[in-house]
Amino acid sequence: MIARRDDPRPLPSETSLRVIMRHLREIMSDGGEGQDKLDRIVRQIAGVMVAEVCSIYLKRQDGSLELFASEGLNPDSVHTTRLKRGEGLVGRASELGTTVNEPEASNHPAFSYRPETGEEIYHSLLAVPISRSGQVLGVLVIQNRTPREYSDEDVEVLQATAMVIAENLISGAVAGTVAAIEASRSQPGLIEGEPLSDGIALGHVVLHEPRIVVTQLMAENPAIELERLDLALEKLQKNIDEMFEHEHLSSVGEHRDVLEAYRMFAHDKGWHRRLREAVEGGLTAEAAVERVQNAMRTRMLRQHDAYWRERQRDLDDLSDRLLRVLSGRLKSSEDDGGLPPDAILVARTMGPAELLDYDRSRLRGLVVEDGSSQSHVAVVAKALGIAAIGQASGIVDRVSAGDAAIVDAVTGEVHLRPTGELIAAYSDKVRFRARRQKRYQSLRDRPAITKDGVPIAMMMNAGLLVDLPHLDESGADGIGLYRTELQFMLSEAFPRLDRQTQLYRSVIEEAGGKPVVFRTLDIGGDKVLPYLRQPKEENPAMGWRAIRMALDRPELFRLQIRALLKAAAGRELRVMIPMVSASYELGAIRALIERERAFLTEHGHPLPETVLVGAMFEVPALLFELDAFLSRVDFVSVGSNDLMQFLFASDRTNARVASRFDVLAPAPLRALRTLITTADRYGVPVTICGEMAGSPLEAMTLIALGFRSLSMAPASIGPIKSMVLSLDAGKVAAFIDELLKEGAKDVRMSLQQFAEKERVAIDG
Ligand code: PEP
Ligand code: MG
Repeated sequence: MIARRDDPRPLPSETSLRVIMRHLREIMSDGGEGQDKLDRIVRQIAGVMVAEVCSIYLKRQDGSLELFASEGLNPDSVHTTRLKRGEGLVGRASELGTTVNEPEASNHPAFSYRPETGEEIYHSLLAVPISRSGQVLGVLVIQNRTPREYSDEDVEVLQATAMVIAENLISGAVAGTVAAIEASRSQPGLIEGEPLSDGIALGHVVLHEPRIVVTQLMAENPAIELERLDLALEKLQKNIDEMFEHEHLSSVGEHRDVLEAYRMFAHDKGWHRRLREAVEGGLTAEAAVERVQNAMRTRMLRQHDAYWRERQRDLDDLSDRLLRVLSGRLKSSEDDGGLPPDAILVARTMGPAELLDYDRSRLRGLVVEDGSSQSHVAVVAKALGIAAIGQASGIVDRVSAGDAAIVDAVTGEVHLRPTGELIAAYSDKVRFRARRQKRYQSLRDRPAITKDGVPIAMMMNAGLLVDLPHLDESGADGIGLYRTELQFMLSEAFPRLDRQTQLYRSVIEEAGGKPVVFRTLDIGGDKVLPYLRQPKEENPAMGWRAIRMALDRPELFRLQIRALLKAAAGRELRVMIPMVSASYELGAIRALIERERAFLTEHGHPLPETVLVGAMFEVPALLFELDAFLSRVDFVSVGSNDLMQFLFASDRTNARVASRFDVLAPAPLRALRTLITTADRYGVPVTICGEMAGSPLEAMTLIALGFRSLSMAPASIGPIKSMVLSLDAGKVAAFIDELLKEGAKDVRMSLQQFAEKERVAIDG
């Protein structure tokens, strides 16, 4: 930008940046107190940027922001003004990690008025997060009286300045000021969340997708930095080109658009120019990558359409890749060398496929800031036998890679940097659990029959070949739900017919004659196949998923059915269709299956002896056409995770609402009873394979409602069998009948009291 003659600002942006950098360097190298340094920093920035106010807010342990230094605001408000986590525009910048640029700050709905600061006279506000390695340490703010939107150059200068401040905060150059913040990262701490997958794990923290830490921001020798940058860009381009060629040969083309966009960016002259300019402005090559990424992100975020959001993701990926090239760690994501043997993964958010990316033999625990017990990442964590906790809010900001941690997924607590005593106590707990596990093992060969002689089929959920040994270990009667999509999520490309056939055949063989229910692909919602292009949807869980995809794009479904029919030749095949919403869909599905059967017969392939076609009961609408539905299926399995989210209109992956409704409430229990009594009339067997079946109190209630087959994660088989053996099915049925008749308010509590009185083993 060229400065206008009447522009009060004396210098164009690169120069102002250089001036600020020079001053910062001087301030940092001078002796003196940390507070004094911060005061001088805000004074300098305000001067160079012609801002009436410049302030630094720093984050405290509880996530609140404290005003640490200010030029322009009332001096009494320094160290007095505190913003709660996420409060006001400054809190927003910190919480979201984004830049806020508001010409009329006080008109903004998020504005938080603090009379003690005297800021009511300032209209425009620019706030940028002070962050390092993805962790927000505070916020740098400038304000002016005249309402104006700050220019891109202003934003870039302030962002670069914030980076340098962050570096100096971390390196201790402003000693004392951040002692509290640093202390919170080294002392024992406790975070409470919600258990996602049972277990206790002791290990060391690995931050999911940690960014490369840029340790040096200011260049010693700009010429060398330029050379490093050019070399790295060249290597990056080569790397992308190779990837493109490789993918081009091996894929059917779904990746090509994505790779083409990558390639475009990697070769983009504008990007190169900006990186060079940043290096010429005094930054190291790594710092330049971060700075340009931040600046471009700010611009792209202003565009609200999906296209730009995607481009931003591309740019983020590419910038991370370039940082890896610069640090000589480009291959780091492919080898697991850095993963300790007792890794506790910590992430803000994680999808099921991302979890599967890790070497499971090194994973002990998982802690995420979002997540609910019915989300797919929880399902996968359970399948992998990893102790997992969700809703651990703020954990990412409170840990460093390598910290010791204990994940107690029984209570939902994460102990950070635990003391020796706590470690010893938990080691005892782990040993106790192992002993209890032994007790469950002793029940392995005992049939699950209630005290009054009612047999309950104990089925297991699975989704990967490695789950199959659990069938024998747990003594389960069969596999009630085999989630075929999990294998697809692990593959690099859509598995072809032969690979699928082989896989299903191995599952059937490993099951050794026990029944296996193969659920056809349930893709969509939070389960994504990286190689399959799916339209972006506002509500993917209610969108184009599972059977809906199968009916609209039958090729993938037919291929899977063909593989299943071939794999089960000469035996019984049970296929189950997910997300059925209306009975007519089953007619269309059966026709597709029939077509594959005819094709194989025509080509002389042996067929299964019998083919049973079942459906998942996950969509409440089916309750109102049970007759039509039940007359079209050979068996039904209740997917209580989805059924409950749709019954209560409560997103299973959204921690805020997922635990708001109780599955042990009259409404869902009546729905389940209606299904089971009608299915009995039709002679259709019903199982339940959602998470409900694996919790003792819930499982007891299901038996009370008439369920005689339960399918659950392998680790639940022992506790549930122990519950069944101590239960009188007749008594509990009569009890629930009364409860539902009365419309009891607290069904859970009443059931708990029943279990205690009757000594039903519901404590696992
Ligand atoms: C369910 O919805 O309860 C279920 C078993 O399916 P998934 O969890 O895979 O959606
Ligand atoms: Mg489901």
